[in-house]
Amino acid sequence: MFENLTDKFEKAFKVLKGQGQISEINIAETLKEVRRALLDADVNFNTAKEFTKTVKEKALGRDVLNAVSPGQLMVKICHEELIELMGGDETEVNYQGNPGIILMSGLQGSGKTTFSGKLANFLKSKKGKNPLLVACDVYRPAAIDQLHVLGDQIGVEVYSNKEEKNPVNIANAAIQHAKSNGNNVVIIDTAGRLAIDEQMMSEISDVKNAINPSETLFVVDAMTGQDAVNTAKAFNERINFDGVILTKLDGDTRGGAAISIKAVVDKPIKFVGTGEKMDALDVFYPKRMADRILGMGDVVSLVERAQEQYDEKEARRLQKKIKKNQFDFNDFLSQLQQVKKMGNVKDLMGMIPGMGKAMKNVEIEDDAFKHIEAIIYSMSPEEREHPEIINQSRKKRIAKGSGQSLTEVNKLLKQFGDTKKMMKMMSNKKNMANMMKQMK
Ligand code: GDP
Repeated sequence: MFENLTDKFEKAFKVLKGQGQISEINIAETLKEVRRALLDADVNFNTAKEFTKTVKEKALGRDVLNAVSPGQLMVKICHEELIELMGGDETEVNYQGNPGIILMSGLQGSGKTTFSGKLANFLKSKKGKNPLLVACDVYRPAAIDQLHVLGDQIGVEVYSNKEEKNPVNIANAAIQHAKSNGNNVVIIDTAGRLAIDEQMMSEISDVKNAINPSETLFVVDAMTGQDAVNTAKAFNERINFDGVILTKLDGDTRGGAAISIKAVVDKPIKFVGTGEKMDALDVFYPKRMADRILGMGDVVSLVERAQEQYDEKEARRLQKKIKKNQFDFNDFLSQLQQVKKMGNVKDLMGMIPGMGKAMKNVEIEDDAFKHIEAIIYSMSPEEREHPEIINQSRKKRIAKGSGQSLTEVNKLLKQFGDTKKMMKMMSNKKNMANMMKQMK
């Protein structure tokens, strides 16, 4: 599911690879790709436009942390916005009442009857309710039989009356039946049509007015993309439903409906159907859906952790020191500590896309930095600030103090010198340009 969309998002973020900062210019290309990805996934045009506009504003207004790349930051912002677009937090179906009454609406074939069964099963097994299913389709006897089959499967009573041709009467009688039989939730499955149809709308609207349900749900097939959104709009204008059920998310859906419905009708998706079986339903969690759509949940948590740990002032101070070539062992130590605070090194590396697999068989000790730290701790404050004064006899003393070999001490000093040179060079844009030229 959503594989195409995920791939395209990934491609969009690649545009920012190698960029130091997010700018009006380099973000334009990424956003163009993001918008194209959304439109290809059948997301509503206005929704896609609004989405990229918000992402742009947020991205330009946010500092890129040293610990993350602009591409990674963009993934995080898109993730946040996708969640927002899909409604933020999950919302429950309201089944309270005496009895609670849930009315189903939707086109024929959307999965309404199947979902009615799934919901009854969910309320019975997960919420300890005693539901009653009601067949209100007065046109298709087969639909009534289908509900009975499902009811038998899950052990839930089904109320129907093939003689009665007025759905309002059936619904009312069913509610009376529930009251006298101790059913505390009534789920009413109504008749659908293949397309939007005035008679169907007025019929559902009449039932709704007559029974005053605690919850009216609109069921829609996710695979129908933009049509799903248009149908949702038409139903909502007419019956003002409370929530959406998106079915067939296990199929080859492009994701457009999941992303745009909330934005277009301002009603949350409450459940998703993920198969034909009675237990194939999931509560709709916008965050989990955003994870699946972007397929980059790891990058998102990497950025979150970096943001949690990151100290803005400290970063500025460091940058200044690097520019002046004053980066010393104290700074080095505090950087090490920052990295350590972010967690287990292997976990951290595993979060970088593509690295997880590569790191699988590599052993990194959790205390990989222990030896380095020991060496630095054995230096005097003066030596840490001015490593150039570390001569042979000082090296010997440091080695002894830290319990490391002289070779280890030499190695660290050399690495530190090289890093410092490199940092100095990279902090200067002109040098950087020269370096790139040489590499070509
Ligand atoms: P209704 O006309 O709206 O009541 O639709 P049905 O409940 O009869 O469903 C139409 C078809 O879609 C049936 O074959 C169902 O088994 C199938 N269906 C319903 N929900 C799902 C789902 O979440 N995933 C899949 N793969 N099929 C579903």
